[in-house]
Amino acid sequence: MRPIYLDNNATTRTDPEVVAAMLPYFTEKFGNASSVHDFGAEVDDAVRLARRQVQTLLGAAFDHEIVFTSGGTEADNAAILSALEAQEGRDEIVTTAVEHPAILSLVGHLEKTRGIKVHYVGVDAQGRLDIETYRRALGLRTAIASVMWANNETGTIFPVAELAQYAHAAGALFHTDAVQAVGRIPIDLKATEIDMLSLSGHKLHGPKGVGALYLRKGVKFRPLIRGGKQERGRRGGTENVPAIVGFGKAAELAASLMDEGPRLRALRDRLERGLIQRIGHCAVAGDVGNRLPNTSNIAFDYVESEAVLLHMNRAGIAASSGSACSSGSMEPSHVLRAMGVPAGALHGAIRLSLSRENSAEDVDRVLEVVPPVVERLREQSSAWRDRQARGQVGVTNCA
Ligand code: PLP
Repeated sequence: MRPIYLDNNATTRTDPEVVAAMLPYFTEKFGNASSVHDFGAEVDDAVRLARRQVQTLLGAAFDHEIVFTSGGTEADNAAILSALEAQEGRDEIVTTAVEHPAILSLVGHLEKTRGIKVHYVGVDAQGRLDIETYRRALGLRTAIASVMWANNETGTIFPVAELAQYAHAAGALFHTDAVQAVGRIPIDLKATEIDMLSLSGHKLHGPKGVGALYLRKGVKFRPLIRGGKQERGRRGGTENVPAIVGFGKAAELAASLMDEGPRLRALRDRLERGLIQRIGHCAVAGDVGNRLPNTSNIAFDYVESEAVLLHMNRAGIAASSGSACSSGSMEPSHVLRAMGVPAGALHGAIRLSLSRENSAEDVDRVLEVVPPVVERLREQSSAWRDRQARGQVGVTNCA
């Protein structure tokens, strides 16, 4: 049976059109973009086109900069470290408790090794940011506020345009990790004050190991990687041309397929509703009315998510618990903990993330496979059996 892939927030399949666009840059078009001869010039043109394709997807002005990086993690690191270095007298960071480890482990390291003050703004039970606390955390010493556009685990969208205005009112820079948002919801940077934005190729059907940092025109920037004058001196090192070309093509495809959003939302909602109706004793995690259209995070009481995922995998369905980086460990998700998800449900949360490659048949199959899996696993749980003995089952408490 055809496997069903529902882990697109971890990574997406590289689109065949993207692969086709990349291939010549491994073979006949192998030049170095910095070379003056024709081999270099044709490659330089290809990198320039990719920059335009990414700018177009972001709705960025063409004189704003796109610095190609090795991915979202590097772009996040470059943004934070540059902001600290480029702004005299500003040495504090404002971020959230639910960022990806690409931000959290960096700022934690800066706290420990450099004594940098980091403000971690919390979220409510739906995963919505506490805006008042965010505003109060900004001050004369804030170098940068970094808040993700959409959360990788729950899909919850943050009001980044508004948050950028508050950061600017305090004289600070504003960065957003938009790795999960770009390509999934329309983005129009021209309409915002965002200074820096991170994105990644492999989340939008592009290749792995390539991403970009968007820099608003005039934002002071200090490179993370020093070397040659590539990327106008913003990032040293010979460009990964095939990956950049593929990333550009993926951005172009994503821009042209933006109307897939409503179809995905309908599929996701049917999947979620179907699971809730059939399973019971579960809750959807996240800001249900303000999420990425492709993401569903459902916490099932009385089961371990790892066991559910294992059985799903045996049935040919790939999903995850929390983020890919923390799956494989039994540590509950820091995002769900920050939302105050009760201990019983914390361990039973699974993330289903769709892409334009998923169909209604995929949803039907998940609805066939998952409910009996959860039922069987619950029967093995003594807490569940106790509950049954007390006659407390049969009541659906899903939200
Ligand atoms: N930021 C977020 C929100 C992510 O979801 C991820 C990847 O899961 C990253 C950053 C890291 O991106 P990359 O894998 O391109 O380094």
